[in-house]
Amino acid sequence: MIEHFFQCPYCWQQISMLIDSSIEHQSYIEDCENCCNPMQINASFINSELVTFSVNQDF
Ligand SMILES: [Zn+2]
Repeated sequence: MIEHFFQCPYCWQQISMLIDSSIEHQSYIEDCENCCNPMQINASFINSELVTFSVNQDF
């Protein structure tokens, strides 16, 4: 697991999320720990390195 920091697209607070680096491509819905709005997380790993990360609020 890695901890990734990013800005929430709703409240613009910096939040962090734990992501499982053993899963190459993943997409899931998670609630912001600050404002509790749902967002879709897209993450890709190569050799456990985070190579792409995006947050989508329109899903
Ligand atoms: Zn938020």
